[in-house]
Amino acid sequence: MMQNSLDILIIGAGIAGCCAAIALTQKGHRVRVVEKQDAWRFQSSGIFVYANGLESLKKLGILEDMLAAGFAVPEGRNAYYDHTGQPIVETIYPTADEGRIPAILGIKRAEMHRVMAARVTALGVPVQLGTTVAALDETADGITVTLSDGTTVQADLVVAADGLRSATRAMIGIDVAPRYTGVGVWRAVHRRPDALRDKIMMMGPAKRFGIMPISDDLLYTFGTVAEPKDSYYAPADWPRIMAGRFAEFAGPAAPFLAELSAQTEVLYTAVEEVVLPLPWHRGRVQLIGDAAHASTPFMGQGGAMAMQDAVVLAEALAAHETLEEALTSFGQARLPVCAFVQDVSRAVGEAGAQEATGDASARHAEMRATAQEKVDGFYGRLKALSEAAHFRQ
Ligand SMILES: Cc1cc2nc3c(=O)[nH]c(=O)nc-3n(C[C@H](O)[C@H](O)[C@H](O)COP(=O)(O)OP(=O)(O)OC[C@H]3O[C@@H](n4cnc5c(N)ncnc54)[C@H](O)[C@@H]3O)c2cc1C
Repeated sequence: MMQNSLDILIIGAGIAGCCAAIALTQKGHRVRVVEKQDAWRFQSSGIFVYANGLESLKKLGILEDMLAAGFAVPEGRNAYYDHTGQPIVETIYPTADEGRIPAILGIKRAEMHRVMAARVTALGVPVQLGTTVAALDETADGITVTLSDGTTVQADLVVAADGLRSATRAMIGIDVAPRYTGVGVWRAVHRRPDALRDKIMMMGPAKRFGIMPISDDLLYTFGTVAEPKDSYYAPADWPRIMAGRFAEFAGPAAPFLAELSAQTEVLYTAVEEVVLPLPWHRGRVQLIGDAAHASTPFMGQGGAMAMQDAVVLAEALAAHETLEEALTSFGQARLPVCAFVQDVSRAVGEAGAQEATGDASARHAEMRATAQEKVDGFYGRLKALSEAAHFRQ
């Protein structure tokens, strides 16, 4: 067990960076954070956090605040419809902690960051906004980090949580660019009708459209569809384009598509992934979250993986004698979990995008027969892989 508390610099205050700041501070390390954005300003739209991510938030002491700020789907119910609005099948997602942790939380991203940032602040972690890293110089007993304002910081460990386009990755000699997957995601925030409480997934021809409550007042919709590489759409056009892309969706989607306007918060994202072999660290610099293993969003697990990384990294540091052992074991523990999520998510996305149009009755019959089994299989395997990846201390 490493006896000393470490000086740790975290690069990036997204999900991974904030959660790592909390987890590492709770273990007694001295943590500071630098974040490129000049204010706490996070993308609109919502995010799902499934029970495995919520378990990590409980360990970080922010589960209750997160639940209060979002919307837990009753009984973890997910209702599938075809794009005309005909019901196909319902599935139930697993809870955790013997039912005390709900199966799925929907929450506005800005609210999620408000809760995480409040905890980081309450723990007294200094966060320097509008700041990046200009240089990393490692010596035998530490690392000197030159920040973009010209000041330097001495650290024992640098945790790079700077997301999919991590600049730190290149700085430590890992030359892997994000891979575009051919799919774009359109997301919008709407008022939530009181009766809409389940997660809804609509199966269109080679398209998906989802509806998810994110608070007492709000829900978000998200549609996935094939989009050409390097396509650019001006943000002012996003509401109109989103309405057009999913115009064939009726039933539960129809009222939300109809109300898309210049006043709606709409976001377009081209889906990319980052697949890195181990090691995810070089010397005293450790990549976590999307910087190490960004996944396509089809399993809604990227955020949960970032939260688990934070918890497991803190555990690994406590469980090993040397930094090198701790960082090596962290990667070995996390790769199987994150690669499993990436592989399943990629397969789901590719299968959806490659569907032919026309009669979908065979797909729906298969879903009725296997959808619940697939949910249980995925979460069973994820739980087994994640439990194998915690360190005894
Ligand atoms: C369309 C879409 C939908 C998704 N839906 C879900 C979902 O429902 N559930 C889920 O769990 N996951 C979802 N994800 C995945 C999830 O958003 C990511 O996995 C998660 O945000 C990763 O967190 P992160 O902290 O690693 O990266 P980020 O959230 O990208 O945070 C990185 C942070 O680093 C900062 N930064 C960047 N460069 C620098 C620098 N050089 N110096 C300092 N700071 C820097 C950024 O400003 C940012 O604050 C989705 C992803 C997409 C694309």
